[in-house]
Amino acid sequence: MNTPQLPSYISRENIGPWQIFLQQVEQVAPLLDKALWPWVETLRRPKRSLIVDVPIRRDNGEVEHFEGYRVHHNTSRGPGKGGVRFHQDVTLSEVMALAGWMTIKNAVVNVPFGGAKGGIRVDPRQLSLSELEGLTRRYTSEISSMIGPDKDIPAPDMNTNAQVMAWMMDTYSMGEGRTVTGVVTGKPLSLGGSLGRQDATGRGVFVTAREAARKLDVPIEGAQVIVQGFGNVGEASARIFAQAGARVIAVQDVSGTVFNAAGLDIVALKRYQLENKTLAGAPGCEVIDNDAFWSLPCEFLVPAALESQINRYNAERIAARIVVEGANGPTTPEADVILAERGIVVVPDVLANAGGVTVSYFEWVQDFSSFFWSEDEINARLERIMSESFNAIWQLAEQRRLSLRSAAFVIGCSRVLEARATRGLYP
Ligand code: NAD
Repeated sequence: MNTPQLPSYISRENIGPWQIFLQQVEQVAPLLDKALWPWVETLRRPKRSLIVDVPIRRDNGEVEHFEGYRVHHNTSRGPGKGGVRFHQDVTLSEVMALAGWMTIKNAVVNVPFGGAKGGIRVDPRQLSLSELEGLTRRYTSEISSMIGPDKDIPAPDMNTNAQVMAWMMDTYSMGEGRTVTGVVTGKPLSLGGSLGRQDATGRGVFVTAREAARKLDVPIEGAQVIVQGFGNVGEASARIFAQAGARVIAVQDVSGTVFNAAGLDIVALKRYQLENKTLAGAPGCEVIDNDAFWSLPCEFLVPAALESQINRYNAERIAARIVVEGANGPTTPEADVILAERGIVVVPDVLANAGGVTVSYFEWVQDFSSFFWSEDEINARLERIMSESFNAIWQLAEQRRLSLRSAAFVIGCSRVLEARATRGLYP
Protein backbone atom coordinates (compact mmCIF):
# COMPACT_ATOMS: atom_id res chain seq x y z
CA MET A 1 0.00 0.00 0.00
CA ASN A 2 1.28 3.48 -0.82
CA THR A 3 1.98 5.69 2.21
CA PRO A 4 -0.59 8.49 2.59
CA GLN A 5 0.68 11.79 1.22
CA LEU A 6 1.50 14.49 3.76
CA PRO A 7 2.81 17.93 2.82
CA SER A 8 6.37 17.15 1.83
CA TYR A 9 7.90 19.42 4.45
CA ILE A 10 6.23 17.71 7.41
CA SER A 11 7.49 14.29 8.36
CA ARG A 12 5.15 11.66 9.71
CA GLU A 13 6.84 12.32 13.04
CA ASN A 14 5.14 15.71 12.76
CA ILE A 15 8.36 17.63 12.86
CA GLY A 16 9.15 20.24 10.23
CA PRO A 17 12.53 20.79 8.56
CA TRP A 18 13.40 23.90 10.59
CA GLN A 19 12.92 21.93 13.82
CA ILE A 20 15.07 19.17 12.35
CA PHE A 21 17.81 21.68 11.52
CA LEU A 22 17.63 23.08 15.07
CA GLN A 23 17.88 19.57 16.54
CA GLN A 24 20.94 18.86 14.42
CA VAL A 25 22.60 22.05 15.68
CA GLU A 26 21.64 21.23 19.32
CA GLN A 27 23.21 17.79 18.97
CA VAL A 28 26.62 19.12 18.00
CA ALA A 29 26.70 22.35 20.06
CA PRO A 30 28.29 20.63 23.11
CA LEU A 31 30.96 19.13 20.84
CA LEU A 32 32.18 22.51 19.59
CA ASP A 33 35.12 24.40 21.02
CA LYS A 34 33.92 26.18 24.19
CA ALA A 35 35.06 29.53 22.83
CA LEU A 36 32.38 29.19 20.15
CA TRP A 37 29.47 28.44 22.49
CA PRO A 38 28.40 32.08 22.95
CA TRP A 39 27.90 32.31 19.18
CA VAL A 40 25.78 29.15 18.64
CA GLU A 41 22.62 31.26 18.98
CA THR A 42 23.53 32.79 15.59
CA LEU A 43 22.73 29.46 13.94
CA ARG A 44 19.30 29.31 15.59
CA ARG A 45 18.27 32.63 14.02
CA PRO A 46 18.23 33.29 10.29
CA LYS A 47 19.92 36.63 9.59
CA ARG A 48 17.04 37.93 7.48
CA SER A 49 13.90 36.50 5.90
CA LEU A 50 11.75 38.09 3.24
CA ILE A 51 8.19 37.11 2.29
CA VAL A 52 6.99 38.56 -1.01
CA ASP A 53 3.74 38.63 -2.92
CA VAL A 54 4.23 37.44 -6.49
CA PRO A 55 1.25 38.42 -8.66
CA ILE A 56 1.16 37.22 -12.28
CA ARG A 57 -1.30 37.53 -15.13
CA ARG A 58 -2.47 34.07 -16.19
CA ASP A 59 -2.93 33.26 -19.87
CA ASN A 60 -6.72 33.64 -19.42
CA GLY A 61 -6.23 37.28 -18.36
CA GLU A 62 -6.84 36.76 -14.64
CA VAL A 63 -4.35 37.91 -12.00
CA GLU A 64 -3.18 35.28 -9.51
CA HIS A 65 -1.03 35.77 -6.41
CA PHE A 66 1.68 33.44 -5.10
CA GLU A 67 3.82 33.67 -1.99
CA GLY A 68 7.60 33.78 -2.38
CA TYR A 69 10.49 33.74 0.09
CA ARG A 70 14.20 34.45 0.30
CA VAL A 71 16.14 33.73 3.48
CA HIS A 72 19.72 34.59 4.38
CA HIS A 73 20.47 32.17 7.18
CA ASN A 74 24.05 33.25 7.78
CA THR A 75 26.54 35.39 5.85
CA SER A 76 29.50 35.29 8.23
CA ARG A 77 31.76 33.56 5.69
CA GLY A 78 30.63 35.37 2.54
CA PRO A 79 27.62 36.22 0.41
CA GLY A 80 24.51 34.09 0.69
CA LYS A 81 24.26 31.11 -1.65
CA GLY A 82 21.45 28.64 -2.19
CA GLY A 83 18.80 27.49 -4.62
CA VAL A 84 15.30 28.59 -5.50
CA ARG A 85 12.51 26.00 -5.20
CA PHE A 86 9.14 26.12 -6.94
CA HIS A 87 6.81 23.68 -5.16
CA GLN A 88 3.25 23.68 -3.87
CA ASP A 89 4.39 22.84 -0.32
CA VAL A 90 7.09 25.52 0.08
CA THR A 91 6.78 27.47 3.36
CA LEU A 92 8.96 30.02 5.13
CA SER A 93 9.93 27.39 7.70
CA GLU A 94 11.09 25.00 4.96
CA VAL A 95 13.10 27.73 3.25
CA MET A 96 14.70 28.66 6.60
CA ALA A 97 15.82 25.04 7.07
CA LEU A 98 17.13 24.76 3.52
CA ALA A 99 19.06 28.02 4.04
CA GLY A 100 20.47 26.68 7.31
CA TRP A 101 21.68 23.50 5.62
CA MET A 102 23.33 25.69 2.94
CA THR A 103 25.24 27.54 5.68
CA ILE A 104 26.62 24.26 7.00
CA LYS A 105 27.20 22.74 3.55
CA ASN A 106 29.16 25.71 2.18
CA ALA A 107 31.39 25.59 5.25
CA VAL A 108 31.81 21.79 5.00
CA VAL A 109 33.27 22.05 1.49
CA ASN A 110 34.91 25.34 2.46
CA VAL A 111 33.54 27.51 -0.34
CA PRO A 112 33.44 31.21 0.67
CA PHE A 113 29.67 31.56 0.94
CA GLY A 114 27.04 31.91 3.62
CA GLY A 115 23.75 30.05 3.48
CA ALA A 116 20.61 31.24 1.70
CA LYS A 117 17.57 29.75 0.01
CA GLY A 118 14.40 30.87 -1.72
CA GLY A 119 11.20 29.54 -3.10
CA ILE A 120 7.69 30.12 -4.30
CA ARG A 121 4.66 28.22 -3.07
CA VAL A 122 3.38 27.15 -6.49
CA ASP A 123 2.82 23.98 -8.45
CA PRO A 124 4.75 24.89 -11.60
CA ARG A 125 3.10 22.04 -13.52
CA GLN A 126 -0.07 24.17 -13.55
CA LEU A 127 1.65 27.08 -15.34
CA SER A 128 2.39 27.63 -19.02
CA LEU A 129 5.95 28.53 -20.02
CA SER A 130 5.11 32.21 -20.32
CA GLU A 131 3.35 32.19 -16.93
CA LEU A 132 6.43 30.54 -15.42
CA GLU A 133 8.61 33.25 -16.94
CA GLY A 134 6.33 35.97 -15.55
CA LEU A 135 6.39 34.34 -12.12
CA THR A 136 10.19 34.06 -12.13
CA ARG A 137 10.71 37.64 -13.28
CA ARG A 138 8.30 39.15 -10.73
CA TYR A 139 9.82 37.05 -7.93
CA THR A 140 13.33 38.15 -8.93
CA SER A 141 12.27 41.75 -8.99
CA GLU A 142 10.63 41.41 -5.53
CA ILE A 143 13.76 39.89 -3.96
CA SER A 144 16.22 42.07 -5.91
CA SER A 145 17.19 44.06 -2.82
CA MET A 146 18.52 40.85 -1.26
CA ILE A 147 20.45 39.33 -4.18
CA GLY A 148 23.56 40.32 -6.12
CA PRO A 149 26.89 38.75 -7.12
CA ASP A 150 28.52 39.83 -3.86
CA LYS A 151 25.36 39.67 -1.74
CA ASP A 152 23.45 36.47 -2.42
CA ILE A 153 23.65 34.24 -5.48
CA PRO A 154 20.61 31.99 -6.20
CA ALA A 155 20.83 28.70 -8.13
CA PRO A 156 18.44 25.93 -9.27
CA ASP A 157 16.65 23.63 -6.86
CA MET A 158 13.48 21.56 -7.22
CA ASN A 159 11.51 22.50 -10.34
CA THR A 160 13.88 25.27 -11.36
CA ASN A 161 16.56 24.94 -14.03
CA ALA A 162 19.01 26.76 -16.29
CA GLN A 163 16.19 28.56 -18.14
CA VAL A 164 14.75 29.89 -14.86
CA MET A 165 18.25 31.09 -13.91
CA ALA A 166 18.53 32.86 -17.30
CA TRP A 167 15.27 34.75 -16.63
CA MET A 168 16.47 35.67 -13.13
CA MET A 169 19.81 36.90 -14.48
CA ASP A 170 18.09 38.93 -17.21
CA THR A 171 15.57 40.50 -14.81
CA TYR A 172 18.26 41.46 -12.32
CA SER A 173 20.47 42.82 -15.13
CA MET A 174 17.63 44.99 -16.48
CA GLY A 175 17.23 46.55 -13.02
CA GLU A 176 20.97 47.23 -12.81
CA GLY A 177 21.21 48.58 -16.36
CA ARG A 178 24.09 46.21 -17.19
CA THR A 179 24.63 42.49 -17.71
CA VAL A 180 25.37 40.84 -14.37
CA THR A 181 26.11 37.18 -15.09
CA GLY A 182 27.41 36.47 -11.57
CA VAL A 183 24.06 37.08 -9.84
CA VAL A 184 22.94 33.45 -10.30
CA THR A 185 24.65 30.14 -11.01
CA GLY A 186 23.38 27.09 -12.85
CA LYS A 187 22.91 29.31 -15.91
CA PRO A 188 22.97 28.10 -19.52
CA LEU A 189 26.48 27.92 -21.02
CA SER A 190 25.61 30.75 -23.43
CA LEU A 191 25.19 33.13 -20.47
CA GLY A 192 28.30 32.36 -18.46
CA GLY A 193 27.21 29.00 -17.11
CA SER A 194 29.85 26.42 -16.23
CA LEU A 195 30.62 23.14 -17.91
CA GLY A 196 29.87 20.30 -15.52
CA ARG A 197 27.27 22.23 -13.46
CA GLN A 198 24.31 20.17 -14.72
CA ASP A 199 25.75 16.90 -13.40
CA ALA A 200 27.71 18.39 -10.48
CA THR A 201 25.38 17.43 -7.62
CA GLY A 202 24.97 13.87 -8.91
CA ARG A 203 28.71 13.59 -9.49
CA GLY A 204 29.36 14.71 -5.92
CA VAL A 205 26.81 12.15 -4.66
CA PHE A 206 28.71 9.47 -6.53
CA VAL A 207 32.15 10.59 -5.31
CA THR A 208 31.09 10.57 -1.65
CA ALA A 209 29.31 7.22 -2.14
CA ARG A 210 32.46 5.76 -3.68
CA GLU A 211 34.62 7.07 -0.82
CA ALA A 212 32.23 5.59 1.76
CA ALA A 213 32.22 2.30 -0.15
CA ARG A 214 36.02 2.18 -0.09
CA LYS A 215 36.04 2.57 3.68
CA LEU A 216 33.42 -0.16 4.07
CA ASP A 217 34.87 -2.53 1.45
CA VAL A 218 31.78 -2.38 -0.75
CA PRO A 219 32.68 -2.74 -4.44
CA ILE A 220 30.92 -0.31 -6.81
CA GLU A 221 31.12 -2.80 -9.67
CA GLY A 222 27.85 -4.74 -9.58
CA ALA A 223 26.53 -2.87 -6.52
CA GLN A 224 22.75 -2.47 -6.43
CA VAL A 225 21.51 1.11 -6.22
CA ILE A 226 18.01 2.53 -5.68
CA VAL A 227 17.22 6.20 -6.30
CA GLN A 228 14.25 8.28 -5.18
CA GLY A 229 13.80 11.37 -7.39
CA PHE A 230 14.68 11.34 -11.06
CA GLY A 231 15.32 15.03 -11.66
CA ASN A 232 18.59 16.92 -11.78
CA VAL A 233 20.17 15.16 -8.80
CA GLY A 234 18.57 11.70 -9.01
CA GLU A 235 19.07 11.19 -12.72
CA ALA A 236 22.71 12.32 -12.74
CA SER A 237 23.49 10.21 -9.65
CA ALA A 238 21.86 7.13 -11.22
CA ARG A 239 23.62 7.63 -14.56
CA ILE A 240 27.06 8.13 -12.99
CA PHE A 241 26.60 5.08 -10.73
CA ALA A 242 25.63 3.03 -13.80
CA GLN A 243 28.62 4.32 -15.79
CA ALA A 244 30.86 3.16 -12.94
CA GLY A 245 29.50 -0.39 -13.23
CA ALA A 246 26.79 -0.33 -10.55
CA ARG A 247 23.30 -1.68 -11.20
CA VAL A 248 20.52 0.86 -10.64
CA ILE A 249 17.66 -1.53 -9.91
CA ALA A 250 14.88 0.92 -8.92
CA VAL A 251 13.98 4.52 -9.53
CA GLN A 252 11.07 6.42 -8.00
CA ASP A 253 9.69 9.80 -9.02
CA VAL A 254 6.45 11.63 -8.29
CA SER A 255 4.65 9.40 -10.85
CA GLY A 256 5.65 6.05 -9.31
CA THR A 257 8.41 3.44 -9.03
CA VAL A 258 10.06 1.23 -11.66
CA PHE A 259 12.26 -1.80 -11.06
CA ASN A 260 14.56 -4.10 -13.01
CA ALA A 261 16.72 -6.60 -11.11
CA ALA A 262 19.27 -6.63 -13.93
CA GLY A 263 19.66 -2.84 -13.84
CA LEU A 264 17.70 -0.05 -15.53
CA ASP A 265 18.90 1.71 -18.67
CA ILE A 266 19.11 5.18 -17.12
CA VAL A 267 19.56 7.15 -20.34
CA ALA A 268 16.57 5.44 -21.98
CA LEU A 269 14.48 5.83 -18.82
CA LYS A 270 15.15 9.59 -18.67
CA ARG A 271 14.22 9.95 -22.33
CA TYR A 272 10.99 8.05 -21.65
CA GLN A 273 10.20 10.19 -18.55
CA LEU A 274 10.74 13.44 -20.46
CA GLU A 275 8.52 12.32 -23.34
CA ASN A 276 5.75 10.71 -21.30
CA LYS A 277 5.84 12.67 -17.99
CA THR A 278 5.76 9.34 -16.15
CA LEU A 279 8.02 6.36 -15.49
CA ALA A 280 5.25 3.79 -15.84
CA GLY A 281 5.35 1.92 -19.13
CA ALA A 282 9.05 2.50 -19.78
CA PRO A 283 10.42 -0.49 -21.71
CA GLY A 284 12.39 -3.10 -19.78
CA CYS A 285 11.05 -2.35 -16.33
CA GLU A 286 8.30 -3.35 -14.01
CA VAL A 287 6.14 -0.91 -12.01
CA ILE A 288 6.28 -1.66 -8.28
CA ASP A 289 4.50 -0.23 -5.27
CA ASN A 290 5.96 3.07 -4.00
CA ASP A 291 6.25 1.74 -0.47
CA ALA A 292 8.00 -1.48 -1.57
CA PHE A 293 10.82 0.71 -2.91
CA TRP A 294 12.10 1.33 0.64
CA SER A 295 12.53 -2.38 1.45
CA LEU A 296 14.55 -3.32 -1.64
CA PRO A 297 17.87 -4.95 -0.67
CA CYS A 298 20.70 -2.86 -2.11
CA GLU A 299 24.16 -1.48 -1.40
CA PHE A 300 23.23 2.19 -1.97
CA LEU A 301 20.00 4.11 -1.38
CA VAL A 302 20.04 7.64 -2.81
CA PRO A 303 17.11 9.80 -1.68
CA ALA A 304 17.07 12.69 -4.20
CA ALA A 305 13.58 14.17 -3.91
CA LEU A 306 12.08 15.81 -0.82
CA GLU A 307 12.62 16.18 2.92
CA SER A 308 11.68 13.57 5.55
CA GLN A 309 11.28 10.67 3.12
CA ILE A 310 13.23 8.33 5.40
CA ASN A 311 11.32 8.38 8.65
CA ARG A 312 10.34 6.12 11.52
CA TYR A 313 7.78 4.38 9.30
CA ASN A 314 10.28 3.00 6.82
CA ALA A 315 13.71 3.23 8.50
CA GLU A 316 13.32 -0.23 10.07
CA ARG A 317 12.75 -1.75 6.63
CA ILE A 318 15.54 -0.08 4.71
CA ALA A 319 17.84 -2.79 3.43
CA ALA A 320 20.72 -0.66 2.12
CA ARG A 321 24.33 -0.68 3.33
CA ILE A 322 24.86 3.03 2.64
CA VAL A 323 22.38 5.92 2.34
CA VAL A 324 23.75 8.82 0.32
CA GLU A 325 21.61 11.92 0.78
CA GLY A 326 21.23 13.61 -2.59
CA ALA A 327 18.19 15.53 -1.29
CA ASN A 328 18.30 18.07 1.50
CA GLY A 329 16.92 16.81 4.80
CA PRO A 330 15.63 13.43 3.52
CA THR A 331 16.16 11.65 6.87
CA THR A 332 14.33 12.59 10.08
CA PRO A 333 16.29 12.60 13.36
CA GLU A 334 14.33 9.54 14.56
CA ALA A 335 15.17 7.65 11.38
CA ASP A 336 18.80 8.70 11.74
CA VAL A 337 18.94 6.89 15.10
CA ILE A 338 17.22 3.78 13.70
CA LEU A 339 19.59 3.59 10.73
CA ALA A 340 22.62 4.03 13.00
CA GLU A 341 21.41 1.26 15.32
CA ARG A 342 21.01 -0.99 12.29
CA GLY A 343 24.56 -0.27 11.13
CA ILE A 344 23.49 1.58 7.99
CA VAL A 345 25.96 4.34 7.15
CA VAL A 346 24.43 7.69 6.15
CA VAL A 347 26.48 10.12 4.06
CA PRO A 348 24.72 13.35 5.09
CA ASP A 349 23.19 15.91 2.72
CA VAL A 350 25.51 18.73 3.82
CA LEU A 351 28.35 16.68 2.35
CA ALA A 352 26.81 14.32 -0.22
CA ASN A 353 24.96 16.92 -2.28
CA ALA A 354 27.55 19.69 -1.95
CA GLY A 355 28.87 19.04 -5.48
CA GLY A 356 26.25 21.41 -6.91
CA VAL A 357 27.28 24.40 -4.85
CA THR A 358 30.95 23.56 -5.36
CA VAL A 359 30.61 23.86 -9.14
CA SER A 360 28.34 26.89 -8.61
CA TYR A 361 31.32 28.41 -6.82
CA PHE A 362 33.50 27.58 -9.85
CA GLU A 363 30.88 29.19 -12.11
CA TRP A 364 30.84 32.38 -9.97
CA VAL A 365 34.65 32.56 -10.05
CA GLN A 366 34.67 32.02 -13.83
CA ASP A 367 32.06 34.77 -14.31
CA PHE A 368 34.12 37.23 -12.25
CA SER A 369 37.30 36.49 -14.16
CA SER A 370 35.57 36.00 -17.55
CA PHE A 371 37.85 33.02 -18.03
CA PHE A 372 36.29 29.61 -18.47
CA TRP A 373 37.71 26.24 -17.53
CA SER A 374 37.46 22.90 -19.33
CA GLU A 375 35.03 20.24 -18.13
CA ASP A 376 37.92 17.96 -17.16
CA GLU A 377 39.41 20.71 -15.03
CA ILE A 378 36.07 21.31 -13.32
CA ASN A 379 35.40 17.63 -12.67
CA ALA A 380 38.92 17.10 -11.33
CA ARG A 381 38.60 20.05 -8.90
CA LEU A 382 35.13 18.87 -7.86
CA GLU A 383 36.40 15.35 -7.28
CA ARG A 384 39.26 16.65 -5.12
CA ILE A 385 37.07 18.89 -2.95
CA MET A 386 34.41 16.20 -2.46
CA SER A 387 36.83 13.39 -1.61
CA GLU A 388 38.95 15.57 0.71
CA SER A 389 35.82 16.84 2.50
CA PHE A 390 34.55 13.27 2.84
CA ASN A 391 37.83 12.03 4.27
CA ALA A 392 38.13 14.89 6.79
CA ILE A 393 34.62 14.11 8.03
CA TRP A 394 35.24 10.35 8.13
CA GLN A 395 38.41 10.89 10.15
CA LEU A 396 36.72 13.16 12.68
CA ALA A 397 33.79 10.73 12.97
CA GLU A 398 36.21 7.91 13.76
CA GLN A 399 38.30 9.95 16.20
CA ARG A 400 35.33 11.24 18.18
CA ARG A 401 32.96 8.31 17.58
CA LEU A 402 30.35 10.42 15.82
CA SER A 403 27.95 9.82 12.97
CA LEU A 404 29.07 11.32 9.66
CA ARG A 405 26.26 13.88 10.02
CA SER A 406 27.46 15.03 13.43
CA ALA A 407 31.08 15.15 12.23
CA ALA A 408 30.04 17.22 9.20
CA PHE A 409 28.06 19.57 11.45
CA VAL A 410 31.02 19.93 13.84
CA ILE A 411 33.28 20.95 10.95
CA GLY A 412 30.66 23.19 9.31
CA CYS A 413 29.44 24.90 12.50
CA SER A 414 33.03 25.45 13.71
CA ARG A 415 34.02 27.21 10.48
CA VAL A 416 30.92 29.42 10.52
CA LEU A 417 31.17 30.31 14.19
CA GLU A 418 34.91 30.99 14.03
CA ALA A 419 34.21 33.52 11.29
CA ARG A 420 31.33 34.94 13.33
CA ALA A 421 33.39 35.23 16.51
CA THR A 422 36.33 36.82 14.69
CA ARG A 423 34.10 39.41 13.03
CA GLY A 424 32.58 40.36 16.37
CA LEU A 425 29.47 42.42 16.92
CA TYR A 426 28.44 45.52 15.02
CA PRO A 427 28.19 48.22 16.27
P1 NAD B 1 14.15 18.26 -9.60
O1 NAD B 1 12.94 19.14 -9.60
O2 NAD B 1 15.06 18.31 -10.76
O3 NAD B 1 13.72 16.72 -9.38
C1 NAD B 1 12.94 16.32 -8.29
C2 NAD B 1 12.56 14.87 -8.49
O4 NAD B 1 11.88 14.42 -7.32
C3 NAD B 1 11.61 14.64 -9.66
O5 NAD B 1 11.98 13.48 -10.37
C4 NAD B 1 10.25 14.43 -9.00
O6 NAD B 1 9.38 13.62 -9.75
C5 NAD B 1 10.69 13.72 -7.72
N1 NAD B 1 9.68 13.82 -6.67
C6 NAD B 1 8.97 14.90 -6.28
N2 NAD B 1 8.10 14.57 -5.32
C7 NAD B 1 8.26 13.24 -5.10
C8 NAD B 1 7.63 12.30 -4.25
N3 NAD B 1 6.66 12.69 -3.42
N4 NAD B 1 8.05 11.02 -4.30
C9 NAD B 1 9.02 10.63 -5.14
N5 NAD B 1 9.65 11.46 -5.98
C10 NAD B 1 9.27 12.76 -5.96
O7 NAD B 1 14.92 18.62 -8.23
P2 NAD B 1 16.48 18.43 -7.91
O8 NAD B 1 17.18 19.68 -8.28
O9 NAD B 1 16.95 17.13 -8.43
O10 NAD B 1 16.43 18.38 -6.32
C11 NAD B 1 16.16 17.19 -5.60
C12 NAD B 1 16.68 17.32 -4.18
O11 NAD B 1 18.09 17.56 -4.23
C13 NAD B 1 16.09 18.48 -3.36
O12 NAD B 1 16.06 18.09 -2.01
C14 NAD B 1 17.11 19.58 -3.55
O13 NAD B 1 17.07 20.53 -2.51
C15 NAD B 1 18.38 18.76 -3.52
N6 NAD B 1 19.56 19.41 -4.12
C16 NAD B 1 19.55 19.85 -5.39
C17 NAD B 1 20.69 20.42 -5.94
C18 NAD B 1 20.79 20.87 -7.37
O14 NAD B 1 21.90 21.20 -7.81
N7 NAD B 1 19.72 20.85 -8.15
C19 NAD B 1 21.84 20.56 -5.14
C20 NAD B 1 21.83 20.08 -3.84
C21 NAD B 1 20.67 19.50 -3.34
